[in-house]
Amino acid sequence: MSQTSLLLERLGALIQQSVRDDATRHGLQPIHIQVLHYLVRANRYSDLPIAIAEYFGITRGTVSQTLAVLERRGLLTKEPDARHGKRVHLKLTRAGESVLSESWVERVEQALCERDVEATALESTLRNLLAAMQRVNGQRAFGLCRQCAHFLTEENGARCGLTNEPLATEQTVRICREWAAVTEECV
Ligand code: SF4
Repeated sequence: MSQTSLLLERLGALIQQSVRDDATRHGLQPIHIQVLHYLVRANRYSDLPIAIAEYFGITRGTVSQTLAVLERRGLLTKEPDARHGKRVHLKLTRAGESVLSESWVERVEQALCERDVEATALESTLRNLLAAMQRVNGQRAFGLCRQCAHFLTEENGARCGLTNEPLATEQTVRICREWAAVTEECV
């Protein structure tokens, strides 16, 4: 095993431990914290139960149970989609957002900041590694909207080339289940 694999294994284990600690502090399970973190970053095509199942590789039954707990605890709400009959969008409540304050994510960001890490280079390396692993495992990439092959910049803002719908600025910095990598043919 290379040093890189060992380091990633240790980091993964430490992050899992931190998620467990965050969950315990709020009387929740780790998957509850992970789903809240996911939803706060997901765009409007991805704040759906099916997208959660895909992102975490878990069953729809497990997603339903998880959402039921979060809803009962007042940490998220379900908002009907105005255009798609049965579809519901999952939104964090204020209480849900406050669960995420002082979480493991902030501790990682602080550690990166204190060590003056070249964030862009590290992010690029990790993204490439993740994409390679996702291809091997046949998983969707869930990339950032602004970096998608379907992302179109227009005079008055942005548009999704896949759905042909306009994109609010705050949606363009979120992750999406429909994301596609920019290939040389797209450039
Ligand atoms: S441009 Fe890509 S990432 Fe953005 S909403 Fe459309 S499909 Fe999703």
